[in-house]
Amino acid sequence: MDIIEKLRDIVGDRASASPAERLCYSSDASMVSGTPDYVVRPLSTAEVSMVVELAAAEGVPVTARGAGTGLAGGAVAVRGGIVLDMSGMNRIVEMDLANLAVVVEPGVVQARLNEALKPSGFFFPPDPGSANFCTLGGLIANNGSGMRSVKYGTTRNYVLDLEVVLADGSVVRTGSRTLKAAAGYDLTRLFIGSEGTLGVITGAVLRVAPLPKARRLVIASFNSAEEAGQAVAATFAAGIVPSACEILDRMTVAVLRRCDPSLRLPDGDVLLFEVDGSEGAAAEAAAEIAALCSAAPGAASVATASGAGEMEEIWAARRLVGAAVSRLDPTKSRIYVGEDVGVPIKEIPAMRREVSEISDRFGIPAMKYGHIGDGNLHVALFIDVLDDGEWARLAGAADAIHRAAIRLGGTVSSEHGIGAARSEYMNEQLGEGAISVMRAIKRALDPKGIMNPGKLGLDDDYGPPSGGEG
Ligand SMILES: Cc1cc2nc3c(=O)[nH]c(=O)nc-3n(C[C@H](O)[C@H](O)[C@H](O)COP(=O)(O)OP(=O)(O)OC[C@H]3O[C@@H](n4cnc5c(N)ncnc54)[C@H](O)[C@@H]3O)c2cc1C
Repeated sequence: MDIIEKLRDIVGDRASASPAERLCYSSDASMVSGTPDYVVRPLSTAEVSMVVELAAAEGVPVTARGAGTGLAGGAVAVRGGIVLDMSGMNRIVEMDLANLAVVVEPGVVQARLNEALKPSGFFFPPDPGSANFCTLGGLIANNGSGMRSVKYGTTRNYVLDLEVVLADGSVVRTGSRTLKAAAGYDLTRLFIGSEGTLGVITGAVLRVAPLPKARRLVIASFNSAEEAGQAVAATFAAGIVPSACEILDRMTVAVLRRCDPSLRLPDGDVLLFEVDGSEGAAAEAAAEIAALCSAAPGAASVATASGAGEMEEIWAARRLVGAAVSRLDPTKSRIYVGEDVGVPIKEIPAMRREVSEISDRFGIPAMKYGHIGDGNLHVALFIDVLDDGEWARLAGAADAIHRAAIRLGGTVSSEHGIGAARSEYMNEQLGEGAISVMRAIKRALDPKGIMNPGKLGLDDDYGPPSGGEG
């Protein structure tokens, strides 16, 4: 019997080998591409388990996919095989708020969970720009995060327990519903950030937090990004931890304004500090930050917003940056490479200088914005996609940006993941010792190398790829 017939025995017509459907699953939001041989849309853990067991018996790769919004090619089947579209497993199974927990299937879209939690006064803090379309499974598999990580941490801090289908089709649970546990190896964290290379997540118990009663937003502009960075350092040194701390460089501000001329953002390099808590605590922290910024060298303007509408307008603009950058120059498009580096906070000025120098050296415009509060700098590089020379210079610029981040003691990805796009940097960033440990774990849990091969730079010695376009 053909593999497709065996897959149909498990999930019926939710398995397909049609060229059109396979093509629809051949990319994510990155530049990586690779066409799977089969697309399977499971609706239960039992179906996932049977599909993976079949894949193991046939030696066929299995790549889990959430919404395909990843920016590193993680959900792309670069070595062919089966793409498991997990978006149909999208039930919020249980709200267990007395235990500060919710039980979800992996295909739930992040924002839908927060909509469901809001009436009860709770939220799930990890807050990616893609919240309206990415899945919780993808977020967990990538350890994604966003603007709130400076205070609330990343997805890793909110996963209590996972249900995972391993590479032989068996099903394990990794944790418990308790808020803390001291019971052996932390398997939950092993699977968080493993990008589908160790197993398929089919369920999760997530920790939730009470919604803060009040929020304030301080908007401060500076004559230079360097001076903006100093104001952030002064804020942290004063013992204030904002719930978000973002920088928009002057080019980003100009582009946002071109996109929406009514936007109330000041000129210059702009910092956005959000603070939250009780009414009194939020107002006090905002006043302290405003005073610190006003006194900081190079401060051009400082304002505070407290109305929900005004704050939402600014945050909506911040979320627009990724798309708005296309307004910089109609002949150029943003390409997502070198877009997610992170460095220790005190190295941010040095990283920004490196990016400016790289941009000049390669002749590729670079906009800089991001989560300055946790060291995560998003760099938007633009090229004329019809110009082969620009593609070559873009690759050189992205490579130089990645290497600069590593040199400064940072990471090639703070939240978007490694996937296939950044796997070549794993050795340089982590060193041979750490990579050997990761390879040993991979081999122990996935001896046939079928779980999302071609990712994280871990499986080059697993033998030749089995199909796919690479
Ligand atoms: C406009 C835009 C803005 C973005 N902003 C942010 C941001 O602010 N912060 C951030 O962190 N990311 C951001 N991203 C990147 C992306 O949205 C995240 O990486 C997200 O977590 C991916 O979720 P997904 O459901 O699309 O996963 P996919 O892209 O489908 O998959 C991502 C990885 O997870 C694995 N995976 C998916 N589901 C499972 C599962 N059930 N079991 C095991 N492995 C699985 C895949 O194999 C793959 O390796 C942004 C992307 C875009 C396009």
